[in-house]
This record gives sequence, C-alpha cells and structure tokens, in this order.
Amino acid sequence: MDTAVPTTEPTASDAAIAQPVEQRRILVTEVPGPRSREKHAHRTQHVPVGLGITLPVFVERASGGILVDADGNHLIDLASGIAVTSVGASHPAVVAAVQKQAAAFTHTCFMVTEYDGYAQVAERLNRIAPGEHEKRTALFTTGAEAIENAVKIARAYTGRPDVVVFDHAYHGRTLLTLGMTAKEAPYKTGFAPFPEHIHRAPFAYPLHWRTGAQNAVPEALASFEALIERVGPDRIAAAVIEPIQGEGGFIVPGEGFLAGIREITERHGIVMVADEVQAGMGRTGRMLAIEHEGVVPDLVCTAKALAGGMPLSAVTGRAEIMETVGAGGLGGTYAGNPLSCAAALAVLDELECDDTLLQRARRIEELVRTHLEPLVDETGIVAEVRGRGAMMAIEICHPGTDEPDAPTAKEIAAACHAQGVVTLTCGTHSNVLRLLPPLVISDELLEDALGVLADAVRAAR
Ligand SMILES: *Cc1c(COP(=O)(O)O)cnc(C)c1O
Repeated sequence: MDTAVPTTEPTASDAAIAQPVEQRRILVTEVPGPRSREKHAHRTQHVPVGLGITLPVFVERASGGILVDADGNHLIDLASGIAVTSVGASHPAVVAAVQKQAAAFTHTCFMVTEYDGYAQVAERLNRIAPGEHEKRTALFTTGAEAIENAVKIARAYTGRPDVVVFDHAYHGRTLLTLGMTAKEAPYKTGFAPFPEHIHRAPFAYPLHWRTGAQNAVPEALASFEALIERVGPDRIAAAVIEPIQGEGGFIVPGEGFLAGIREITERHGIVMVADEVQAGMGRTGRMLAIEHEGVVPDLVCTAKALAGGMPLSAVTGRAEIMETVGAGGLGGTYAGNPLSCAAALAVLDELECDDTLLQRARRIEELVRTHLEPLVDETGIVAEVRGRGAMMAIEICHPGTDEPDAPTAKEIAAACHAQGVVTLTCGTHSNVLRLLPPLVISDELLEDALGVLADAVRAAR
C-alpha cells in the first residue's frame, strides 16, 4: 500500500476532517483560488469539457450549508449539489448510517440476494406517496433511470406506446429522457436521433403566457386535451410532469393545472407520472411538491434528496400498475444499493421525525421573499420571485419587460461566486437564478448569502 505513488498531493488531513466546519462564509483567497485553479488545469487534461462546470473550485470538505475548498475558502452552498444534500452536507446521521452499512456489506445486488434496507425504503416511500391505495416501490440509481422505468411500467400496464411531456421539462440525460427533456442546447446538441412516440404540450407558465397569466391554466389544459385527441387517447401510456419544473426555470404552474392534468389523464386511462426528482423529499416544505395541490398521481419518481448524496432513485405507485411487469423486467446491478438505502433511511428519519426540516423549508421561502421581492420594483430586472419552500428562484429580464436576459443572470451568478456564494442558473432561456440551500441552513448564513445576491442584482441593473 505505502509504495503506491499518490497521484495528487494529500488534501484535507484526517485531523482537519475531525474539526467541525465553521458555518460562516470565509474568504481567504479569490474564488477560485490558486490551488483550485491548479487542480482545474489538471482536470482539463483528463476530463472532457462536456462535463460543464458552474464554479471551478475543488471541494475538500462540506458540512451543513458550507463547502470548504482547496484554498480554505468557506463557501455558502445555495445549490446543495442540485437539490441533493437537503438535510445538509455530510449530515452526521447519514454518515453514520453509511459507515455502519459499509462495514456490514456494500453490495449483493437486490435481484440476487435480498436485504432489509431496500424493503424498508420501499415501505416508507409507499406511505409517503399521496393516496390511500396500495402501493409498491422499485428502487434504482439515478433520476433518469427512475423516469425511464416509470415509462416502461406505464407502457406495460396500458399496452400503449406514447408519452406526453411538457414545454420546459427536464427529465434527464439518457436518450429516452433527453427525448423527453425540452431544452435543446446544451443537453441535446449533437445527440439526435431521440426515441419516437414523445409529444410535448404547453406548461401553464403564468409569467410568459402569451395571452396573459390568467389564461395560462385553461389554455394549457385545452392544448393538452387537444394533443391527446390528435394523437389518440388509446395510444398514450403516460403523461410525465414535474409538479414544479426544475431545470426549466423553477416554474410553479398556475393553480389548478396539475388537478386539470389529473382529471384529463384519469378520464383517458393515461398514467400520470409526477417527476419529483428535484422538487420532492421535503424541498418545497412538503414531502412531495404535488401535495401542495392535493393531487394524487399514479406514479411518483423521486431521487436527488432521497439519500442525502448517495445515489438512489425510486418509482412509487399504484400496486395494480407496478405489478404489471413480470419478474426480471425491472432492476439494475446497483439499483437500490445497500449504502444508498441506509442513507435514505437516515434522511427519511430526519425529514419525518418531526416537522422541523419541512418548517425550515417554509422559513427559507419567507426569508428569500423578504430579501428579494423588493428587488422587483427597485431594480426592474427581476421579473418575478417564485417557488415554494427552499426551491426558490428569481427570473431576470430586460428592464420592465418579460424578455429573458441570460447574460445578466450569468453576471449575477458570477458576482455571487466571487463572493463565496454558490448559486445556479436554470431556465429554458438560462435567465433564472435558483436557490437550493440545504434545509438546515441557519437564518444567519442564508441572510448573508441573500445579501450578497441582492447586491449582485443591484450592481447588474
Ligand atoms: C435531475 C433531474 C432528473 C434526472 O436525474 P439524474 O439523477 O440526473 O438522472 C430528472 N428529473 C428532474 C425533474 C430532475 O431535476
């Protein structure tokens, strides 16, 4: 062992890892600092540019709402690794659960020999998903895999081939889910052809609805119904919808849209799949975002925050639908990995033990609105502050218009990064700044980050 040549110099020492991470923004160099820049130069020699990068800093430790980089900067995390570390980075209960499971066994493949963690996660997700009906859960590894399996299951159940998705949708990067994803560049560029049998309907996006926000829901539902008639209801297996769209721009659909989709799909025997991969697992102040509208979908896909950073995804749904696929039809080598299941059980304990974390999500919304809503009138470039719970965003447009302004959104994000606040952009037009802090972030830390963001918006005006 000790004769192995280290390929990189040692980073955070064991002694340093034992120290608690101060929950405070601390800048000791520019961001990215010299060590991160050096490591990034190394990376570019070995990793293709196709793996884009929001902020080229190398993280050595993370805890709660802070990422510590190779130069010792403490960055405030408003990304949570894209809505994954919702219970906080390296939550002690998650770390302990993973360590304990790793010491017991790391893998058997659930389709070869079974283990409790998988069945326990399934039982809990069956209880969490809306509706009193009997349910089943199948576990997978990534969000895209969950979506693909939901489509497979819906096809097997209905005996129909087609799928309806929506404008601004994001469902993943595999070829089927890319076909379902709306945004062309950079996701789809160069990767065609995509699978057939995918149709796209308008999403009730009030801010940009051409005939006015108040018409978004009725007109979008009419278009959905018209699309179904055009394709033929007996050809459509599933409608897959994000209850709040993620990559597409943190778009909360007009009220009643989800209920309308439910009513129409039910009438035509179409399986309604809620893609809760980003919005689910406590992010919006409820366990699942669709609960805000009281809608009961047939299948629910979860992933991102489900296992606190360990790869795990799930399809949860009506037993009669889930049970249509014969033995051997579902699975995957790593699907429902034991370490991920152990992590998920710890995450679910945190989210369900009392209402604390869900309440934190609602408190985060309150703080974000208090700090950022005044910017709408003050700056003229914030068209809207929107979202639910800890899934909030501001949309940047040219002053006084609803014309997307991506360069300014990018400039604001860059200004935040330089000040040690990790923010992400999103949106079909890349003009939305999204905030995804871990739910455990303190008021103090969040307010510091929101102050940096507000100053960056004012400076960009
Ligand atoms: C991230 C995401 C996916 C894809 O998940 P991966 O784990 O990246 O495959 C699917 N749907 C939504 C809504 C997402 O945000």
